[in-house]
Amino acid sequence: MSRTAYRTCPLCEALCGLELTVEGHRVTRVRGDAKDPFSKGFICPKGATLGVLDGDPDRLQEPLVRSGDEHAKADWEHSFAVVQRRLREIITAHGANAVAIYLGNPSAHTIAGPLYGAAVVKAIGTRNLYTASTSDQMPKHVSSGRMFGDPMAVPVPDLDRTDHLLMLGANPLESNGSLCSAPDFPGRLKAIRRRGGTITVVDPRRTRTAALADRHVFIRPGADAYLLLALVHTLFAEDLVRLRHLAPAGPAASAGPSAPSPAVNGLDDLRALAVGFSPETVAETTGIQAAEIRRMARELAAADRAAVYGRLGTCTQEFGTLASWLVDVLNVLTGNLDREGGAMFPRAAHVPVYRKKRPFTSGRWQSRVRGLPEMNGELPAATLADEILTPGVGQVRALITIGGNPVLSTANGARLDEALAGLDFMVSVDPYLNETTRHADVILPPPRPAQTGHFDLALTGFAVRNYVRYSPPAIPPPDGRPTESDILARLATIASGQDADPALLDEFIIGSTLAKATAAEGSPVQGRDPAELRDLLRGDSGAERRLDMMLRLGPYGDGFGAEPDGLTLTGLRDDHPHGLDLGALTPRLGEVLCTASGRVELCPPPFAADVERLRAGLRTGPATEAEPYVLIGRRHLRSNNSWLHNVPELVGGSNRCTLQLNHDDAARLGVGAGDLVRVISRTGAVEAVAEPTESLMAGVVSLPHGWGHDRPGTRMRTADGHAGQNVNAITDEREIDPLSGNSVFNGVPVRLEPLGHQIPV
Ligand code: SF4
Repeated sequence: MSRTAYRTCPLCEALCGLELTVEGHRVTRVRGDAKDPFSKGFICPKGATLGVLDGDPDRLQEPLVRSGDEHAKADWEHSFAVVQRRLREIITAHGANAVAIYLGNPSAHTIAGPLYGAAVVKAIGTRNLYTASTSDQMPKHVSSGRMFGDPMAVPVPDLDRTDHLLMLGANPLESNGSLCSAPDFPGRLKAIRRRGGTITVVDPRRTRTAALADRHVFIRPGADAYLLLALVHTLFAEDLVRLRHLAPAGPAASAGPSAPSPAVNGLDDLRALAVGFSPETVAETTGIQAAEIRRMARELAAADRAAVYGRLGTCTQEFGTLASWLVDVLNVLTGNLDREGGAMFPRAAHVPVYRKKRPFTSGRWQSRVRGLPEMNGELPAATLADEILTPGVGQVRALITIGGNPVLSTANGARLDEALAGLDFMVSVDPYLNETTRHADVILPPPRPAQTGHFDLALTGFAVRNYVRYSPPAIPPPDGRPTESDILARLATIASGQDADPALLDEFIIGSTLAKATAAEGSPVQGRDPAELRDLLRGDSGAERRLDMMLRLGPYGDGFGAEPDGLTLTGLRDDHPHGLDLGALTPRLGEVLCTASGRVELCPPPFAADVERLRAGLRTGPATEAEPYVLIGRRHLRSNNSWLHNVPELVGGSNRCTLQLNHDDAARLGVGAGDLVRVISRTGAVEAVAEPTESLMAGVVSLPHGWGHDRPGTRMRTADGHAGQNVNAITDEREIDPLSGNSVFNGVPVRLEPLGHQIPV
């Protein structure tokens, strides 16, 4: 007897709705949910295998506790008791900063990570927080923090209404989009062209996305900031700057009657900064002719509705923050920020808009060993190994990982691998015994995705339409099996030294949130009794009651009865099982801005100062005589970091972990398809199978990331059979973007040694 369940796909940022066929306790078929108003039935190969992932026999069903070199099954109470004892011993002996926390990318795709991750960090009281953000997107947060005051206020391209899209370092035909949630991203791009719009893609590789565009422009890896500043230069030089609604003396955007006038500061400083970056000046560094740069600037300025979108490739480079900043500078200078068809700010249903936010600050503390500044509450993942390996007061001796596989995903992962082996204690919340968790003393596995409810707390804030959906568990978890929320809540209570009922944590958070909401000016519950509001909350768990509270206080909420037609969690679950479209994005800059000046800061002083570093790098680039090639990464539609390599359906077929290199470079080196090549950098070497191609610029080589499943002590049998090479054996933990602490993965200098013919590709 089968039944149908609906849920959001948790595997990437696109937020597709899925229709699951469930037989007994198994998911036997997965299709796109045709009734989802956002994804309308779209599904990709990853989503289609969610049932296989869900039923993976290597998925841990109970906790593991290390005994010597082996991991043995243990019951939950014993496992939590071990965690409590060891964490307490270490904190008592060495202080809270001796415990580091790493939040991996998967934790952002769950209810538990966003709802309870911060509670774990706060309960420990450590300054050693590391996340996947400094491996892929911290430059964008720093850019938004400085420009708009809020690091989470990331403008997204209004894909469905734009006339002209300029994309840099983004390959949504493989990634399905990032910091821009858009189910069927490829279809939305095709629609731009169908309605007469144009797409330009700038990338060192002719990707599938580039092939779909009107024009692909090759750029040298790491040179995006030069190109973008030359575009700014051209807009000023040719009198093409048109702020429209953002002009200092102009009218306020339609952000509501109480919104401040959203004008900009720093226009003259920006103009002065761009003077030295004419298209001719940057042509050699970028590899793009001056005439092409001028053409791009003119097209951008001429389009009625245009958006500039920079993604991973623009963040994971030595000038990542400058590139991220200049993307939005161009959106401002062309009058397209916060405007239909331009770059807009989504309005998530669970984020209240009445709350007063403090302007972004950074550098409130520094890392102990390298003195790297805190950004957005965390330290660069690139320095976690330093903090573990370097003796002294404050040395990291214990680690909590929640999702993620930093041994494969952080720069110089081999060094982190070595560091993790020397920890006094490590606990991982993870469903797999993988390259990272094999070092853990205790592994606490969350239930299967089908046994877990889903509400997207992280990604709806980056969606190209305002949208909300709640999916209850499709299959009930077994009796006595804690949910991921239960696990994290329990860790938080353990870390606080109490090991009290985790439900008390939810009640504490609900109580303090409602107390603030009833006291806040402009809140829908201003002046009401928090206890009365608490009694109105509905849900089967603390997590559900917190979601109910967030929705009811949010911009579409029922305001606890003030707006009877507004959202509640039970209403969303029962009346909208396929999700609810909340409309196209609308201008809301006045709601978003929280800079000290109340204006968009177009030329923040730290960014202006870093332009000197950019100037010093003109014409040099990252390649050297000893290491004449530069390495970049690449995405594949059937992969997502290291998560999905244990799904047979997604790793079958030809080897995807190949070294792509330009045909001419291959001929010069005497390398043919299938030859083995050693790729050598400062930090190490890997041997990979060559795949000569015309899609890469000369001088550039490419390896995908997330591979390297060849470590002993793991339990991922399919991944073991498709190990591939860990590209992070040759990336360099010392190379970071100094403004954000983000690692440099694009533009790593390497040299190549042909090893002769080995395997046909
Ligand atoms: S595009 Fe992303 S969200 Fe959509 S089905 Fe594929 S993996 Fe899931």
